[in-house]
Amino acid sequence: MTVTTRPAKKRVVLLGATGSIGESTLRVLRAHPASLELVGVAAHANAEKLFAICREFGVRHVALADESAALAARTAQQIPGHAKLCSGPSGLVELASLPEADIVLVAVVGTAGLAPALAAIAAGKDLALASKEILVLAGEFIMAAARAKGTKILPVDSEHNAVFQCLAGQAVGDVRRVTLTASGGAFRDWPVERLAHATPAEALKHPNWAMGPKITVDSATLANKGLELIEARWLFGLRPDQCHAVIHPQSIVHAVVEFNDGSMLAQLCPPSMTFPIQHALLHPARAPGTDASLDLGRLSALEFRPVDEQRFPLLHLARAAMVTGGAAPAIFNAANEIAVAAFLAGRLPFLGIATVVEKTLERMQPPPPTDLAAVLVADAEARRTAAAQL
Ligand code: NDP
Ligand code: MG
Repeated sequence: MTVTTRPAKKRVVLLGATGSIGESTLRVLRAHPASLELVGVAAHANAEKLFAICREFGVRHVALADESAALAARTAQQIPGHAKLCSGPSGLVELASLPEADIVLVAVVGTAGLAPALAAIAAGKDLALASKEILVLAGEFIMAAARAKGTKILPVDSEHNAVFQCLAGQAVGDVRRVTLTASGGAFRDWPVERLAHATPAEALKHPNWAMGPKITVDSATLANKGLELIEARWLFGLRPDQCHAVIHPQSIVHAVVEFNDGSMLAQLCPPSMTFPIQHALLHPARAPGTDASLDLGRLSALEFRPVDEQRFPLLHLARAAMVTGGAAPAIFNAANEIAVAAFLAGRLPFLGIATVVEKTLERMQPPPPTDLAAVLVADAEARRTAAAQL
């Protein structure tokens, strides 16, 4: 007699539920109610959207990082009756270690997801990671904590999820290089002279992906690909010289892994984040996709071309920071966050983003990679140094 056991439902905590990755994750959850259950959600300040999610999915554990938004929600008695609201950064940490959770998806923009990610690892949860900034800031420490605890880290960033899939059953020692594809962002076909006048509205018009504002600007500068090279380095234990990027305007091939024998494996899917999110949440199971898959017969072309680093100096700066090591990637990331926020607020021209990052890296001597505390100090100092240039 064959006994078939249905896999248990995975219970998911989603940090950054109101954002772009959050929305794609909710679509995956709606498509797979028999396999996935949402048990906790968190956001920064968007209480209305967070409570709507909480009602739709019957979620009991809710957190708002912004204390005043949480206070306003309590005062206005907006909290759904069945839910318990935690507030402040510690609220996210509490959710990340919920006893009833199996997997925590961190999709908080910037570095606010670091403490919750470390808490999820310490609590023995699987970690699905979209927030690349925290791997750039503290990849060495996150990976060491995950190794020590035996935690599974499942990459959600599409390129890294692609690499993860290509490496299944392969030895990392057999990898020659990993190439991440980049769409080239909003300005890939603009003449370089026009970039000086690029506006936030123009930078936010991404040709292929619908994403949050910070990462969309990072795609236009290619800082995003720089952050992703560093992310790949830590996730897969690669040397900096093994991490590469190439422009691929169609965003269909997400990454290519080349092995020592010259064979290459690639992962393809349409440019929708539901594919990597679903893969990470259901891993190692496969289920019908949330979105329609590719029709190869209708693909007209898959183009690849080298990155022009004159057009995209932030990619070059990120690569140099990765090679320098220590706190340099943290400094790159922090200065970039400050500069992108200033650009979006209309206080810095587009080309000023790279200048602020370059000057911040020059002005700060990266301290040796002693411990996480030293890296966090460098992060804070880089934010001050970058802000002083605005
Ligand atoms: P969005 O700007 O769309 O959403 C950000 C989310 O984070 C919101 O839920 C926001 O809450 C929450 N948030 C912001 N600050 C804090 C804070 N201090 N504490 C708690 N929650 C906070 O971003 P994306 O969804 O685009 O990106 C999220 C992360 O995923 C980023 O690290 C990005 O690099 C990465 N990523 C995104 C991809 C994409 O396709 N969008 C692809 C690959 C990676 P609120 O709404 O209340 O402000
Ligand atoms: Mg990506």
